[in-house]
Amino acid sequence: MKAYPLEKFRASENQEYRIAFLSRNAAEVHTHYIEKAEGSMYFWCFEGTCCEVLGPTRPKVAFWIAMYDTSPDGQIISANVTVRYMVLGKKDYDDLVSIDRKTQNTGGLENLDFCIRCSDEKYQKYTIFPIGEATWKKYPEMVNFIMPEWEKLKPYLQGAIARTITLAQFLEAVGGGAAITHNPSAPQNMPQRTYPQGFGR
Ligand SMILES: [Zn+2]
Repeated sequence: MKAYPLEKFRASENQEYRIAFLSRNAAEVHTHYIEKAEGSMYFWCFEGTCCEVLGPTRPKVAFWIAMYDTSPDGQIISANVTVRYMVLGKKDYDDLVSIDRKTQNTGGLENLDFCIRCSDEKYQKYTIFPIGEATWKKYPEMVNFIMPEWEKLKPYLQGAIARTITLAQFLEAVGGGAAITHNPSAPQNMPQRTYPQGFGR
């Protein structure tokens, strides 16, 4: 059983992947990470005490992708596809923007397939490079699966990326009192961050 209907793309070292970006629009991701013995967690930055205690977030972006069913060397072996999201750092994002610009005459990012090779499973380091036209757009059976599936999963993105927590929950997670003493003026009711709207491209 899947714990959550929407899963993040994770790469393994002994597998090549073939994916397509469903949209050139990326959602901005500003999260913090707390590592604890009982279990680590990602949560959405609420632009306050979290940044003061843990330092600023390292901005990332999330893209919607379709992942093809492939052999270990990345060849598509069936019409099965899975809709996932992929979190990328600034460098990968910049590379994709550059590819998008250079391929505008053929529809840009959204009309391409990409190959992914993973060099470090633990830290999820991988290279992404374009590998031809978007396969799924040529097969009605893939289109007919992906479009409603994507629509169904859209509302789960924010919750899949990280938890939304309050200041009180944050202080409890980092050990309570110490943080409060350290920041005596910390406001008690931080506004919740609005859902990221993407880079507005
Ligand atoms: Zn923060």
